[in-house]
Amino acid sequence: MAGDTSMKSASANVAGPDIRSGRLSAAEYESRFSAAVPALDQQAALIESNRCYYCYDAPCIEACPTGIDIPGFIRKIATGNTAGAALRIYEQNIFGGSCARVCPTEILCEHSCVRMAEEGKPIPIGLLQRYATDHGTPANQHPFSRAAVTGKRIAVVGGGPAGLACAHRLAMQGHDITVFEAREKLGGLNSYGVAEYKVPHGYAGHEVEFILGIGGIAVQTGKKLGRDIDLSALRRDFDAVFLGLGLSGVKALDCEGEQLAGVMNAVDYIANLRQTKDFAELPVGRRVVVIGGGNTAIDMAVQIKRLGAEEVALVYRRGAESMSATYHEQAFAKENGVVIRHWAQPLRLEGEGGRISRAVFERTALDQAGKLIGTGEQFALEADMVFKAIGQIFVADPLREESRDLLELKHGRIAADAEGRTSLDKVWAGGDCVAGGQDLTVAAVQAGKVAADAIHRALIQRAAA
Ligand code: SF4
Repeated sequence: MAGDTSMKSASANVAGPDIRSGRLSAAEYESRFSAAVPALDQQAALIESNRCYYCYDAPCIEACPTGIDIPGFIRKIATGNTAGAALRIYEQNIFGGSCARVCPTEILCEHSCVRMAEEGKPIPIGLLQRYATDHGTPANQHPFSRAAVTGKRIAVVGGGPAGLACAHRLAMQGHDITVFEAREKLGGLNSYGVAEYKVPHGYAGHEVEFILGIGGIAVQTGKKLGRDIDLSALRRDFDAVFLGLGLSGVKALDCEGEQLAGVMNAVDYIANLRQTKDFAELPVGRRVVVIGGGNTAIDMAVQIKRLGAEEVALVYRRGAESMSATYHEQAFAKENGVVIRHWAQPLRLEGEGGRISRAVFERTALDQAGKLIGTGEQFALEADMVFKAIGQIFVADPLREESRDLLELKHGRIAADAEGRTSLDKVWAGGDCVAGGQDLTVAAVQAGKVAADAIHRALIQRAAA
């Protein structure tokens, strides 16, 4: 890799930053940011759906965090009932469309498919789910109707997958919901966080509209907990509160040079990319280093490469098997020209004139006790941009003192039971902001759904008491 220099030669070979926008033609942006995985056409969907054994006690259902009746919806595709297939998916997962695009199916349902064990080629459940939701979702009518209005009001804080799944389920049960979202748009990571070629921005917005189509859900955007709204007031004014706050903080590298221009949080750059109307306006370095080992790091590395960066290195402190990005994601990054370098941690970031010019790493290893240690051996990568993607953290500040004293936290996130009930009366929580979560969209949807059912039961019991 041209940007990789030994410690001896690097300092004599530092070029000025090469950051430009508009590195590609409009046609190149279009082709590079269209869906990375082609959709199934009708014939392929029929062929694949007919490969399914429709297993009794299907292991694929067990492996789906939302428990979608997978053989049930696949059988409906096979019999030509695509609308029925979509409905079967939405019954368990109202975000079935975007989950079909972002779920790591290779480690969930498809990994458990008996066809995988038999012939190493599972039923492409994710692609079939995408086919069903793309072609079977009614255009002008929501597939579910609301129960009789109960008069109960629930505040949902956070308009991402956990919050909207909770809101949708509660609206179905006849409750009136108000969703408070800090950002301008709903959708959470689907709108601001995942790669554009997985969930195009237009799709995320369309899916939000579809979910709100149930009715009974009022939306207030630009309302941030702790700034515009207050947990104590929500508890006073609503019958229940669901917190689907996500993770708004970003872990720092805590190394010298982090403040240099050109050193950025990957989540901020991706959020900007997801909202831009013109990819040609985005600044793109010629040599880019991404630090991290999760899906955000992979999404960042692949997208900056697709935006025209010549050299993209993703550096992770442990081996491939320890990366939270799946092997499938890692292979995808390599296919896109990203060089993944394992067993190295950032030592310092160096710059010229206040701008990043290279990142210095120390090679790492495990000691005899299995603890990660620096070996002392160093190398440097020349860089016009460095992206930090070493994880996000829950920010408890918005919970305000009077509530935070009572709202128990665990491992830096909200402590909640299996149904999302927190230590605070009338308050449930779910998704990434809760301790022990899987940090997957599909898990957030399930958490919102489970909490909605628990809130509904609690409201009914309270009314009957
Ligand atoms: Fe079909 Fe595979 Fe699920 Fe069996 S495990 S029902 S073959 S998708």
